[in-house]
Amino acid sequence: MDEAISGEVFVCRGCGDAIDSCEFCDGEDCPNAICYGCVIIDIGQEIPEPHTHGG
Ligand SMILES: [Zn+2]
Ligand SMILES: [Zn+2]
Repeated sequence: MDEAISGEVFVCRGCGDAIDSCEFCDGEDCPNAICYGCVIIDIGQEIPEPHTHGG
């Protein structure tokens, strides 16, 4: 069996899941790689909830 891994395997800084590349900046050499699921959460925390004006 060939266990040769092409490229490095990143670990999500959010949940610790193994990912091929950073889903946030799509960088394969990102020091803070993060998975897609955590990107949504991370962005959701930064962006305030949209308040509907009017009524
Ligand atoms: Zn994650
Ligand atoms: Zn990144």
